[in-house]
Amino acid sequence: MSLFADRVGLLGTENAFKVGPHIVEVESQGHRVIRCNLGEPDFPLPAHIREEVKSALDRDLTHYCDPQGILPLRQAIAREMGARRGLSIAPEQVVVFAGAKPPIGFCQQAYCNPGDAVVYPSPGYPIYESFIRYVGAEPVPLHLEEEQGFACTGVQIEPLVTRRTKLVFLNFPSNPTGGVATRDQLEGIAEVVRAKASPDVRVYSDEIYEEILFDGVRHESIASLPGMAERTVIVSGVSKTYSWTGGRVGWAVFPTAEEAALFKTLNINVYSCLPAYNQMGAKLALESPESPPAIRRMVSAFAERRDLMVRGLNAIPGISCRTPGGAFYVFPNVAGACEGLGAMDAWRRLPDGLRGQTSPSTLFQMFLLYRYQVATMDRRSFGVIGAEGRHYLRLSIATGLEDLEEALVRIAAAARDSEGFRAFVKEGTRLS
Ligand code: PMP
Repeated sequence: MSLFADRVGLLGTENAFKVGPHIVEVESQGHRVIRCNLGEPDFPLPAHIREEVKSALDRDLTHYCDPQGILPLRQAIAREMGARRGLSIAPEQVVVFAGAKPPIGFCQQAYCNPGDAVVYPSPGYPIYESFIRYVGAEPVPLHLEEEQGFACTGVQIEPLVTRRTKLVFLNFPSNPTGGVATRDQLEGIAEVVRAKASPDVRVYSDEIYEEILFDGVRHESIASLPGMAERTVIVSGVSKTYSWTGGRVGWAVFPTAEEAALFKTLNINVYSCLPAYNQMGAKLALESPESPPAIRRMVSAFAERRDLMVRGLNAIPGISCRTPGGAFYVFPNVAGACEGLGAMDAWRRLPDGLRGQTSPSTLFQMFLLYRYQVATMDRRSFGVIGAEGRHYLRLSIATGLEDLEEALVRIAAAARDSEGFRAFVKEGTRLS
């Protein structure tokens, strides 16, 4: 008899939480690490929201509350999400979760039987892929291509949607690529879903980066398109928009109140409810006239950093980087740098077992961290299935301009240092 159930062996993880101990190790050797690995804005929680949370504590909102999310917050979500998308949403369709992450696994559990297929973007937020086999479903990666700006068209998704498809994950603006789908592209995807999928198939539209868009582009949701509100679960939250990852408030809008009620039951079974004081903060965040200027300040800082990073990365031989339309990541192609360093050959020569757990871009990532003290994330951290032969890194720009400038200097030096790379690989300890 084994200690754990078989299914836990099928569960993946989010490597962003695994990089931390590596950084601590490098820092304990007396180095300063530049953190381009973080998936959270580096701005403080805006003061008006902070004050509301404190005041809610003083008002004693410290007890159990509605497991679906407190009504004033659900009303605010219904109003705001509906207004932005041209939809009429009832508070009964809304469920509040402990961040935008829990509905990913909950939806897979609630909608998928073993054998159903789940389409998800790759590269994409790792939890989409990580949960699928755990619920007995089949992962069907939708490979987002650099040449198409990491967006997706109906033509690309069409062959992946079959009779077995039960859930289709979309995420625009996207983590890790910053890709944004145009309305035309969303129309194409919607057409495929309407034509090929039964009305019981759900599109999971992860819109957590909805406010972080550049160049005057406005957010488009697939739920706004004809016939799609009835099939789409729209997900968002406070983590990115208000720089409040520690608030753990996210939400989903379901097509029907009946579906929302099931997710309320899941909440009851897992964590009963979310802290009411943070939910009051989230309500104020959604409604306050002080929020839009705070968001604008953050987004314009990200835009300036994005421009710096795209320019700087493209100036490094062996690296090319597209300009992301949203979120706070750049996703450079590092194939040339990996080739130049000898990372492709080094990876090919690794023992079988280790080779399967790493990649050339992982070797580059670890080299950058341990020898040049820049923390990044490799391509494999955003979906493993079909990642071979795709050489990218994700760099978060949720780091100050000066540090980003220094990161560029260090990355350029690392990309030239094939001798140092060879020695690093030879040591053989930090390769996955
Ligand atoms: N979806 C995407 C695409 C994300 O990038 C993240 C966080 N990095 C989440 C969901 C989870 O957000 P939260 O922290 O609110 O759970």
